[in-house]
Amino acid sequence: MKLVIKGEKVFDGKNVTPDNSILIEDGFIKEVGKNLKGDEVKEFPGSFLMPGMVDAHIHLSGATSGSLLMESLAKDPRTRLLRASAWMEKLLRAGFTTVRDCGEENALFLRDAIKMGTLRGPNIFAAGKPLSQTFGHGELSHTTPLEWNAQRGMSELCDGAEECIKAARKVFRQGSDFIKIFSTGGVLSEKDHPNQEQFTMDEIRAIVKEAEKAGTYVAAHAHGDAGIRNAIEGGIRTIEHCTLASEDTLKLMLKKDVSLTPTLSIQVLLKKYGRELGVNEWGLNKINEVMEGAAVMVPKANKLGLNILCGTDLGFETGRDIDIGKNWTELIFLAEMGGLTPVESLRTATGNAGKIGMKAGTILPGLPADIVVINGDPGEDIREIEKITEVFRNGREVISG
Ligand SMILES: [Zn+2]
Repeated sequence: MKLVIKGEKVFDGKNVTPDNSILIEDGFIKEVGKNLKGDEVKEFPGSFLMPGMVDAHIHLSGATSGSLLMESLAKDPRTRLLRASAWMEKLLRAGFTTVRDCGEENALFLRDAIKMGTLRGPNIFAAGKPLSQTFGHGELSHTTPLEWNAQRGMSELCDGAEECIKAARKVFRQGSDFIKIFSTGGVLSEKDHPNQEQFTMDEIRAIVKEAEKAGTYVAAHAHGDAGIRNAIEGGIRTIEHCTLASEDTLKLMLKKDVSLTPTLSIQVLLKKYGRELGVNEWGLNKINEVMEGAAVMVPKANKLGLNILCGTDLGFETGRDIDIGKNWTELIFLAEMGGLTPVESLRTATGNAGKIGMKAGTILPGLPADIVVINGDPGEDIREIEKITEVFRNGREVISG
């Protein structure tokens, strides 16, 4: 059956085009054009048609409080897994048909359940457990006994190239699609500073090599300049956060074709609601510094022409205006804090994902028909991105009206 979705404008992942309709067959896009005909035409007069969006940095943890440490100590991971399964529908409703999970074992099971048709949800590309050095960001707490941290399973702790190789092979064995590492300290970890370098070059290179052998890549959480540089020189493909990067480092990223995920949503969330959501004191103390960095870094990176990705870094439900199911807040922050035009901002959640090998975010014949219908024009006013009325995944209407 040939299905046509017809609106007013089509944003193809790069530009707003003069086309107004998309022809779909067997779940794939066949043709994009003006007033196309099919066996069935679904008309959305005045609507903006765009690719299903990609959140390139999320944690499908199922947590409901800002203290990830307490959640991981006090809750069985199965409880969190069931909670996270309820997030799948919310993500679709928000127009996100693909997410890249940057560290959470539960995401592997959710991915498989969706692939098997057990659950309905976005296409998930998952890192599984992230790799962290001992006394690293992945431990969250540096005062609870080390064995607890290993047991809680939030990260795979490894030190020295040999252990890093083993950890990389272990997470691939568990089903990871790519590897996430921490190459600097972070905000939500107890004693390390965002500027602190984590992992040595030898360790990073060893992990990157294992990822390449497995046909995939490494993403690095990195705030401070030195740790970002180590990650780039070690061969990683995407820098997450990147808040304290110097201009020279941003230029190096451009030269080496490294993508950038600024993750503004989590920063604004922690600043605005951190205390009431139960975020540990150490996190609240470090948030201002990275946010100030991001406010300078994002406009610079955009001017230089870096490939910027929309990634919220949301990892717990908040019940606030920045939340799972409102992931489009990232596009608004990238425009309003980062200085991106509305179209540049839309690209971060669509066409730019192609650069990191995602078969998503583009309306082009041959690609899966993941399409969002918006009753507004986010190409003119990015705040209209939230006016989602319909979502199609693989050509099927999964959210309507
Ligand atoms: Zn994250």
